[in-house]
Amino acid sequence: MSETPLLAVHDLEKRFPLGGGSLSKPRAWVRAVDGVSFSVKRGESFGLVGESGCGKTTLGQLIVRLIDPTGGRIEFEGQDYASMNRAEIRLVRKRMQIIFQDPYSSLDPRMKVDSIITEPLRAVQRISKTKRRDAAAELLERVGLRAVDLDKYPHEFSGGQRQRIGIARALCVRPELVVADEPVSALDVSIQAQIINLMQDLKDDFDLSYIFISHDLSVVEHICDRIAVMYLGTIFELASSESFSLAPRHPYARALLMAVPQPDPQRRVKPVSMEEDVPNPVDPPSGCTFHPRCQFAFDHCRVERPPLVETIPSHYVACWLNQGRGIEGEIK
Ligand code: SF4
Repeated sequence: MSETPLLAVHDLEKRFPLGGGSLSKPRAWVRAVDGVSFSVKRGESFGLVGESGCGKTTLGQLIVRLIDPTGGRIEFEGQDYASMNRAEIRLVRKRMQIIFQDPYSSLDPRMKVDSIITEPLRAVQRISKTKRRDAAAELLERVGLRAVDLDKYPHEFSGGQRQRIGIARALCVRPELVVADEPVSALDVSIQAQIINLMQDLKDDFDLSYIFISHDLSVVEHICDRIAVMYLGTIFELASSESFSLAPRHPYARALLMAVPQPDPQRRVKPVSMEEDVPNPVDPPSGCTFHPRCQFAFDHCRVERPPLVETIPSHYVACWLNQGRGIEGEIK
């Protein structure tokens, strides 16, 4: 019997209205997330990667219920959010936390570190102030800061230290799933590796599963077991990091990988270029939404959207060339 995933999303959708007032109809809709399905196993690190505006941050916010979906389903340990009552949703929220991208704006400048870290704990559990402070001190030390830092304000810390505080805050309620939304992109390159290594250590110590969101494929490849490549709200490729790194199959994924310096001579990535800018998500291209930028596009690509199918074991691709259409042997 297959194990129930910790998290599963099915055909998830999020549309945002554009223009119009409270009484008038929106002028248009932006499909930020457009029929996304995947699952995350307990203990897994799952990477979501794509250019800015591809919908990955919206997807992360849907998962932790900072925003509500327009369609589709989210299940936590097999239970649909929609079927849960308010108390059950509160409990599930405790089991999932988010680390935000910007360590400068994500911490309230008027609160001391003690209050920042224990804020999620206060929301879900009645616990004495002393015990809360002890828990915060322990966490602060675990993320590489000192207990005396509890009485300081965010402006007294560097960017890397603030992100450590953000991580301690996320871990305070002992979550099982952490959504990390570009957790290192606002940091100096020299600090990024420290935070990534810290997150890997914490994953083992706290039995965590991660959804790691990034525009940087090299970071995601380093930390994640599986990778999903997103473009205009949909998943184009989903595979283990190993299979993906060795031979990405979607032209967009290959173009992304080409942008990463490649020290590994084993990699079989043929050069692929992207020919246009990212299309307007309000009026996405017909068929395969990547076709205006794809050097391999052929007539059928402009008409029908390719489904995400398993092309080799556990490696899923949404591209007609990988599904026996077009010029045979073009993408190998
Ligand atoms: Fe390119 Fe067509 Fe594949 Fe889309 S379906 S990525 S346009 S070859």
